[in-house]
Amino acid sequence: MTVETKSTIEFGDIQTIEFECKNCHFVRSWPIDAFQAPPHECACDSGLWMALGGDTYSKIKHAVSFIHALKAMTKEPFSIRLGIKNGSLAHVSGEKD
Ligand SMILES: [Zn+2]
Repeated sequence: MTVETKSTIEFGDIQTIEFECKNCHFVRSWPIDAFQAPPHECACDSGLWMALGGDTYSKIKHAVSFIHALKAMTKEPFSIRLGIKNGSLAHVSGEKD
């Protein structure tokens, strides 16, 4: 017998958005409902992450707006889940399960 397991998340499961600097690994995190705008730089010497109002900045802001819109869809007769790669869940120390 073959058993296949899969991991999925619903948009309602999304609680935070975080950005990790690939240079120094500092993480900045916001509750998704309170997110205003992405950080455009890190305090280390990684350089400018994105131009304020630029393409990357806009894409991130639109993606968060999209998440908000899908989270608000609770009356539909269906649910939407995204499949994620097994083993790709990141646990943050102190996070409740
Ligand atoms: Zn950094």
